[in-house]
Amino acid sequence: MTVTSPPGQRIELFDLPLDVISLPETLDVLSHWMFATPRTGHTVVTLNPEFIVQSRTSDEFAQAMQAADLVTADGVGIVYAARELCQTQVPRAPGFDIVRGLMARHGPELRVFFLGAKPGVAEQAAQNAHRDFGIQVAGIHHGYFKTDEDQRVAELVRDSGAHLLLTAMGAGRQEVFNQYWRQVLNTPVTIGCGGVIDVLAGTADLAPAWTRKLGVEFIWRVGLDPKRWNRAPRLARFVQMVRAEKKRLKASRP
Ligand code: UDP
Repeated sequence: MTVTSPPGQRIELFDLPLDVISLPETLDVLSHWMFATPRTGHTVVTLNPEFIVQSRTSDEFAQAMQAADLVTADGVGIVYAARELCQTQVPRAPGFDIVRGLMARHGPELRVFFLGAKPGVAEQAAQNAHRDFGIQVAGIHHGYFKTDEDQRVAELVRDSGAHLLLTAMGAGRQEVFNQYWRQVLNTPVTIGCGGVIDVLAGTADLAPAWTRKLGVEFIWRVGLDPKRWNRAPRLARFVQMVRAEKKRLKASRP
């Protein structure tokens, strides 16, 4: 099958795009992009409620997501919002499952650049991914550099010849970096993927399978990790935002 653009529908949630695409379809599209000639850069966003809340106060973040080639639903919060506001059932394609799926599917033919997390963590993630999936490590860089070093890092990625760039530098920073530098990066697939490098390295646990199955891993993340307790109000704020938007849409209908 030749897949050139995401199949299916693209809807809009709070002025941000969202592709109605399943995990297997996402893997098909990204696999095609990664190995197509000539090399063309694409950006992928795995949308979650915190991104939406943050984008309301950051035009830069909102614009980076609006310009992305593919936007998937990372979790159940987005599925809920799409159902409430667009009457659309959107399948989930979480960042971790995408990354693991691509590595499992392509193994040794896949060159991956690991960008992000604290010094040493990306090295461990790369080592584990090579051991588990046989992927080639195209390059490694931690995620704690100032924006005046962005160009140097983007050129490092470009020169690595990676098919896949994992950018895990926190919500907003990673999407803005991917979008702003996409021409320089010239990497077929660049995906902002939050804590995925930590999970691959084993420095953060993946949420238990039952929460992932139900799509409610945020309960585990927010509940069990004290560092994340400050996120609970943002999630509550998201539910409020969805309710208010639903009312507004209802009132504006003839
Ligand atoms: N991170 C980074 N540079 C930064 C901030 C965060 O590389 O300036 C890394 C952090 O070490 C972690 C990942 O980004 O590996 C996700 O961080 P966090 O959970 O704080 O961000 P979120 O995406 O949940 O906002």
